[in-house]
Amino acid sequence: MYLKTLTLRGFKSFASATTLQLEPGVTCVVGPNGSGKSNVVDALAWVMGEQGAKTLRGGKMEDVIFAGTSGRAPLGRAEVSLTIDNADGALPIDYAEVTISRTLFRSGGSEYAINGSPCRLLDVQELLSDTGMGRQMHVIVGQGQLDAVLRATPEERRGFIEEASGVLKHRRRKEKALRK
Ligand code: ATP
Ligand code: MG
Repeated sequence: MYLKTLTLRGFKSFASATTLQLEPGVTCVVGPNGSGKSNVVDALAWVMGEQGAKTLRGGKMEDVIFAGTSGRAPLGRAEVSLTIDNADGALPIDYAEVTISRTLFRSGGSEYAINGSPCRLLDVQELLSDTGMGRQMHVIVGQGQLDAVLRATPEERRGFIEEASGVLKHRRRKEKALRK
């Protein structure tokens, strides 16, 4: 099993559809500062179901949608597709190639699909569980992340743990409810 193709459309700095063809083995992405290398890694995490806006280096999930530049208007949706070569049958699905897609609309709606058929986030998570990929697997170590954990104040470190364990969203909900 290996990652074959990653297509970004309206995701962060990738306003136009951009496809990366990957090969088995190690892939290196090189480019100047701010050119979008980390955004590619964010797209990988996102299409595999990442729910933490902070993990995706944003404040809210909507921040993954192309926000516009001086020469180009903001877009209304972000879309990422990841094609995985499954010739060895590592994924528990009867296809030699599996494409996972995720779309987020600025209006708030969100969609997932496996090989073009709409599905739930849970289906994506279940497909990827046992593969060592996907959410909660901690296989993506972001730039500066180790440094950030080591240098964090106790409060910030608690934030990382809450985000990783999925508690943060419930705490935010509780705080919101208490303000009312
Ligand atoms: P470095 O080498 O410094 O780590 P990088 O190649 O990893 O750089 P990224 O962090 O991937 O760079 O890309 C940052 C760029 O992406 C910034 O210019 C930022 O403005 C742009 N960007 C992030 N989110 C969006 C968005 N929603 N819409 C448009 N541009 C965005
Ligand atoms: Mg980077």
